[in-house]
Amino acid sequence: MKVFMHTCCAPCSVYCIQTLRNEGIEPIAYWFNPNIHPYTEYKARRDTLKNYAKMIDLDLIIEENYGLKEFCKNVVGDIDNRCINYCYPIRMEQTAKFAKENGFDTFTTTLLISPYQQHEAIKKICEEMAEKYQINFLYRDFRLGFREGQNQARELGLYMQKYCGCIFSEEQISIPHTNTKPDLPEGFEFLPVKRNIIINKEKNDKNQYLKLLLEADPSEKMVEKYLIDGEVFVLSYKDDVACIAVVTKLDNDTVELKNIVTKEEFRGKGYAKKMIKYLADNYKQRYKKMLVGTTENNIPFYVKQGFDKYEKTIKNFFIDNYDKEIWDGDLPCIDKYYYSKDLKK
Ligand code: SF4
Repeated sequence: MKVFMHTCCAPCSVYCIQTLRNEGIEPIAYWFNPNIHPYTEYKARRDTLKNYAKMIDLDLIIEENYGLKEFCKNVVGDIDNRCINYCYPIRMEQTAKFAKENGFDTFTTTLLISPYQQHEAIKKICEEMAEKYQINFLYRDFRLGFREGQNQARELGLYMQKYCGCIFSEEQISIPHTNTKPDLPEGFEFLPVKRNIIINKEKNDKNQYLKLLLEADPSEKMVEKYLIDGEVFVLSYKDDVACIAVVTKLDNDTVELKNIVTKEEFRGKGYAKKMIKYLADNYKQRYKKMLVGTTENNIPFYVKQGFDKYEKTIKNFFIDNYDKEIWDGDLPCIDKYYYSKDLKK
């Protein structure tokens, strides 16, 4: 089955894509979303989707259409019914037509995830377009995973829009008396959001993380030394410690990231990146620069995280300061390289 998936935005797509991939279906995403106002908002949603598609290796087709004039002309006569009369149909018709013309056998839409959209109306319009263009419509009630998907999108740091898209929906959330947002359908209840990932500063027993910190820096003597004055940050995933970082102050302008380590079972999920971003946001109020000293192997990782200014090399650091030979992957650690990140950028 070749599924062409109209995609309203990256956050709504998270759960839909996961659901389809779990079923063995690899959707091709399709951005066709006119009448998102203003243009900066249109661009923010489109670009977030582009970045997310890259992140998860998803094929994405972008159909540019800002559509302001067309939208105004078409909804002016019946603004209250604009979603059913214009907004859903143009999206679904274009999607079904494009899918048919380009060799897809099935289409669907991420609009089916929002409990705030008129789900039954979208489903009916899709069925009509499927009939008109002689193509299959894949229906799923993605609403079951709406909250889960939104939480994941937040954790991934995706741009989260605050209103549906058109200028009238922006008015609804901005001016309370115009808020005619529909009630949630029966069976849907939004529980308070429980965030899976939390980063906190450890205020009490910093030494409890010694064992994990030694995985990144095997000198107990050194780790204990920087733990005395260092600030320890703990990233927890569902209450389990996933990543630890230690930062020390060097002078009035500079802090140093002395150690960052992710527990083995949490590696490859972007937690270290998240931690570095958190640390940069945390220290940028008071400091100008964050320094990191690293092995040769890890330079590309840190440069990607913004530590892009070379500062110095300490020759034979790992030979002179450690009792035994240290290896990082298949490279012996010899010199220590210092790079810095401009916190004011
Ligand atoms: S409220 Fe949303 S679905 Fe309705 S017309 Fe505006 S953008 Fe389209």
